[in-house]
Amino acid sequence: MKIGIPKEIKNNENRVAITPAGVYALHKLGHDVLIEQSAGEGSGITDGAYEAAGAATLPEAAAVYDAADLIVKVKEPIEPEYQYFKEGQSLFAYLHLAPNPGLTALLQKKKITAIAYETVQLPGGAHPLLSPMSEVAGRMSVQVGADLLQKYKGGEGILLGGVPGVRCAEVLIIGGGVVGANAAKMASGLGAHVTVMDLSKDRLNYLDDIFAGRVATMLYDEYNAAEMVETADLLVGAVLVTGAKAPKTVSEDMVKSMKKGAVIVDVAIDQGGSIATIDRVTTHDNPCYEKYGVVHYSVANMPGAVPKTSTWALTGATLPYLTRLAEKGVAKALLEDKSFLSGLNTHNGCITCAPIAECFNQDC
Ligand code: NAD
Repeated sequence: MKIGIPKEIKNNENRVAITPAGVYALHKLGHDVLIEQSAGEGSGITDGAYEAAGAATLPEAAAVYDAADLIVKVKEPIEPEYQYFKEGQSLFAYLHLAPNPGLTALLQKKKITAIAYETVQLPGGAHPLLSPMSEVAGRMSVQVGADLLQKYKGGEGILLGGVPGVRCAEVLIIGGGVVGANAAKMASGLGAHVTVMDLSKDRLNYLDDIFAGRVATMLYDEYNAAEMVETADLLVGAVLVTGAKAPKTVSEDMVKSMKKGAVIVDVAIDQGGSIATIDRVTTHDNPCYEKYGVVHYSVANMPGAVPKTSTWALTGATLPYLTRLAEKGVAKALLEDKSFLSGLNTHNGCITCAPIAECFNQDC
C-alpha cells in the first residue's frame, strides 16, 4: 500500500504521524511510505532519518496526497488541506467531526473512507488511540493551569500546592476518564486539593481506590457542580461522550460565580467544549481569553506543544492499527474487528458513526 504522511500545519502542531521505527516496520512489509519533506522537523526527526528507514520524502503536500492510497495524519485536516484529497481516498487521523460541519461535508463530498483515532473503542469502552494524547493533555492541563494562575499571567496569584500554613489551591476536574485521572495525578502531586466529578459511579470508585484519599470524588450533577465551581481556583473540563459534541457541564452562571482570576482549562474543546463560556478554539500562540474575570484556555491540540513526548506516544498506539490497514487493506482490516470499525466516521459519502450523524441530522 502507498501510505502518505503530510506535514502537520495547524498552529504549533509539532507532532508527526509516524516515526522512523514505524517507517522501518511498514517498509519491511513491502509498503511504500511517502513523507512530506520536513514533516518530522517539529519532533526532531530529519528527512534523512526517514529515508534511512526506507521512506521516500516528497517536496510538497500535494505530491504526498496525489501518490498515496491512505493518508495518515495527526490532526484533522484544516481548510488549506481540503483541496488535496482525491475521491475515494482513505484517511486515518484525529477528526473530531461533531463540531466541524465543514470537514464532515468535505469527507462526504469526496467519498473519503475516514477513520478517526478518537472513536476507535474497545469493548470495555476504552479509546486506545485517544488515550495516549489524553494522558499528555491531562498532565499538561495542570502545568498550564498552574502557569496561568500566576498574577502576571492574568490569574488570581495562587500557588497550586500553597506552602505550610497557607491554603493550597482548589482544583476541580469534571470528567474522571483518562484526561481527568492524569490531571488529578499531577495536581495532587503538586499539593493542590483536588476533586474529580463524573457521572459514572464505577469510575469514581476506581479513582477513589487508586488515589487512596489523595483525591476527593463527587458524582456530577448540576447542583453539585454549581457548588464546586464557585470555589475552584482551577477548573479542568475533561468529559467525553464518544463521537458526540461535548456535553456542557458548567453553565454561564456557574462561571460568573467563580473567583476573579480563577482559571478554566477546557481540554474537551476538541469536541466543541464542555464549559458554556468556552466559545472559541484558541491556539498555542494566543491560548487564553478572559470572560467574567476568569481566564479561559481552550487549545484543541495541546499535545502538539510537547512533540518529543506526543509523537512517540501517539505512533506507539497507532502503528499496530496502521499495519493492519496496510497488510489487509482498509475494508478487510475494519470489517474483521468491531472496535476498529467503530473508528469509521465516513465512507462512500455517508456518515457511519451514529453520534456524528445525529449532530448533522443524517441517517447513519
Ligand atoms: P474518557 O472517555 O477517558 O473520559 C471521559 C469521562 O467523562 C468519562 O469518565 C465519562 O464518564 C465522563 N463524562 C461524560 N459525560 C459526563 C458528564 N456530563 N458529566 C460528568 N462526566 C461525564 O475521555 P478522555 O480520553 O479523558 O478525553 C476527554 C476529552 O479530552 C475528550 O474530548 C478528548 O477528545 C479531549 N482531549 C483533548 C485534547 C486537547 O488537546 N485539547 C487532547 C486529548 C484529549
